[in-house]
Amino acid sequence: MQIVAITAPGTAAVLERPDPTPEDDFVVVRIDLAPMCTEYKVFTGGGTGLALGHEAAGEVVAVARPGRVRPGDRVVVMPGTGCGRCPLCLSGDYIHCEQAPRVATPTYAQYVRKQDWLLVPVPADLPLRHAAMACCGLGPTFGALRRMGIRASDSLVVTGLGPVGLGGVIGGVAAGARVIGVESQPYRARLALALGAEAVVDPSDPEAAARIRDLTGGGADRGIDCSGSAQGQRLLIDAMRRRGHLAFIGEGGDLTVHVSRDLLRKGLTLHGHWHYNLADAPALLGLIGRLGPALDRCITHTFPMGRFREAWDLQAAGHCGKVLLEPWAVTAGSPGS
Ligand SMILES: [Zn+2]
Ligand SMILES: [Zn+2]
Repeated sequence: MQIVAITAPGTAAVLERPDPTPEDDFVVVRIDLAPMCTEYKVFTGGGTGLALGHEAAGEVVAVARPGRVRPGDRVVVMPGTGCGRCPLCLSGDYIHCEQAPRVATPTYAQYVRKQDWLLVPVPADLPLRHAAMACCGLGPTFGALRRMGIRASDSLVVTGLGPVGLGGVIGGVAAGARVIGVESQPYRARLALALGAEAVVDPSDPEAAARIRDLTGGGADRGIDCSGSAQGQRLLIDAMRRRGHLAFIGEGGDLTVHVSRDLLRKGLTLHGHWHYNLADAPALLGLIGRLGPALDRCITHTFPMGRFREAWDLQAAGHCGKVLLEPWAVTAGSPGS
């Protein structure tokens, strides 16, 4: 099969690798769509990686034994792995499992090998490109909104409107909340407004937090950080109302939290939130079934996997919403460089 790998700083290519085979509860899924997350940051940051990506949707093609899925099943592939036995796995929060098997399950690839219990069946009437948004496109923010008990009367601020944050706008709007985005990239700001955000504030504006407090009548009820930057995280804390709840989803950021000012006096509740509970997957797929037009607006580009460099350049420039790779699409010309 073909995979994409960053073989040296600044060098990435499509490589040939042996096809995976099923074993125990690990089954083989043909990846038809691999939504792109923030892998481009590894490339632009000078990192390397032979196992890129963690989002996928496709079809089960091989199993080692009878289990939860059969060849031919269309599935969403959940990110990561888990032991399947510890209290975290049994409660659906497998993403935090401390005994997860040490196996890579990259999705910039034509096949992925995955435990059958980490595959979510896709309803027959749901387009696969919509179902694929149950990975990072909508998943982490969906989980965070559930955890914070979002209500239709709430105002929600989302900082960082990239491949994860835009899903927070969609989820907040779907919950009936007033959504305010924080983003400096004009393309993404416009897209967030088209997805139903009431306003988008530029984080480089020194008055950004004050503007959000004005727009929300004293501060936002709920907040989600997808910026992964200390500046965005601080802005979010300062934009919240007293007793508000906020979730940190974006990786990174060396945030200083002031215990007295931010926590005691302001009474904020902070959540570290990575993904969503596996038991909530049917609810998310049900929501996805009702979100069709918004998802088509949010998924702005689809590339054959061989054109991954073009896709990364686009993502780095921020001129896109969610971007999908098609590992089986034929690419004209040379596959990457
Ligand atoms: Zn576990
Ligand atoms: Zn992701």
